[in-house]
Amino acid sequence: MIDVLIVGAGPAGAVAGVVLARAGVGVRIVDRATFPREKLCGDTVNPGTLARLKSLGLAAGIEARGLRVAGMLVTGERGVAIEGRYPDGVYGRAIVRRDLDWQLLQAAIDAGCQFEAGVTVRGAVVNDDRPGRVVSGVTIGAKRGEHRVGARVTIAADGRRSTIAFGLGLARHPDRPRRWAIGVYFENFITGVRPRSDPGPDPGLTPGILGEMHVRRGRYIGVAPTPGGLTNVCLVRPSRPGDAELRDPAALLLRELRRDPLLRDRAADARTAGPPVVLGPLAVDAAGATIDGLLLAGDAAGFIDPMTGDGLRFAVRGGELAAAAALRALEHGWRGVHDRLAAERRAEFGTKWRFNRALRALVASPRAVDTAALGARLAPAAVRRVIAHAGDCHLAGPLMANG
Ligand SMILES: Cc1cc2nc3c(=O)[nH]c(=O)nc-3n(C[C@H](O)[C@H](O)[C@H](O)COP(=O)(O)OP(=O)(O)OC[C@H]3O[C@@H](n4cnc5c(N)ncnc54)[C@H](O)[C@@H]3O)c2cc1C
Repeated sequence: MIDVLIVGAGPAGAVAGVVLARAGVGVRIVDRATFPREKLCGDTVNPGTLARLKSLGLAAGIEARGLRVAGMLVTGERGVAIEGRYPDGVYGRAIVRRDLDWQLLQAAIDAGCQFEAGVTVRGAVVNDDRPGRVVSGVTIGAKRGEHRVGARVTIAADGRRSTIAFGLGLARHPDRPRRWAIGVYFENFITGVRPRSDPGPDPGLTPGILGEMHVRRGRYIGVAPTPGGLTNVCLVRPSRPGDAELRDPAALLLRELRRDPLLRDRAADARTAGPPVVLGPLAVDAAGATIDGLLLAGDAAGFIDPMTGDGLRFAVRGGELAAAAALRALEHGWRGVHDRLAAERRAEFGTKWRFNRALRALVASPRAVDTAALGARLAPAAVRRVIAHAGDCHLAGPLMANG
């Protein structure tokens, strides 16, 4: 029986694998996809996430291949536009997920993890024969029937629609909000802010490109230049199953861009550079219930909203915390493991979860979006603080300065 089976080779699974394999534990990672694979994302590694990856020795490829992100441009209703640059020396990276996730997975394999692609997990194997349920591995679907794979610890890092967490009733989509995301790479999309090699007259500002967040009533559009020249554009809007407009998502996104006073000129000659990707409903609430033998990491442990661009930090740090919990369970048994992991996650993520929920609620209310736009015009410094908080800059400062 393998020590730890990790389902999902995204950032949460790969980072958990790195930490465990470095500690000398036997790890098998499985994923239904073949890597490198695409993943709908804004493609931005925020400063706090980048600093965490640096501290794990996993950032060299990202630093070499990603564009330096110096801050965010946030626009709102009534033409309000505020540029928030990160403090001196603090930056993120824009890198397509195909590259980022492949680099992290290779690091896990280099650290000693076994990896199997094209393996679809159907659910957890739960033993009910002792008091309390215990997960003892997973069921894998294969062409010639299903079979079981046993593990002392299973880590579900299988993303937002986690087969394992949903299957066990540990996660569900809340009734509200019901938002869908559409992501497209564009050619010829004019990026609003040119890369700056020179910080300009203010030496306290980091040079680099800006990510963009265009907040409109009930929806928002994220824009990020990526290495290679394509522009990543994601629209997040309310929707319901059967929404006729989602039948042609690229056309819907182009319509939204071309009716937007701040974006229409920039999108005038834009051409899609690949098929659109649609995901939804986005929000996932994890119940907080636990089962011995199983740990959740990354989006499988809950997902609030992509607006704040920090899902990768929850995935990377959540993968580390799940790995530490797995080590404790392997060494001392499961007593207290879940409680300690929950407390660590609350301590590290609790403030940010509340912040993310507040921003999500703001965007859902047309009146709040209008009021916020007015407030932003009057007090742009408040928006800059929000940008720095969304970027987890407080976690990045010391590490960036050292390395
Ligand atoms: C529109 C959008 C934009 C975003 N933009 C950003 C951003 O700019 N910055 C940021 O930090 N975050 C962003 N996020 C959030 C970020 O993408 C996620 O938080 C992050 O990908 C979570 O990583 P993960 O490893 O938990 O899951 P994933 O990256 O989703 O990986 C899960 C893996 O599990 C595999 N899998 C799933 N089911 C099974 C199964 N049954 N059997 C086997 N394998 C399985 C999948 O193939 C996948 O490889 C965005 C999210 C969305 C939706």
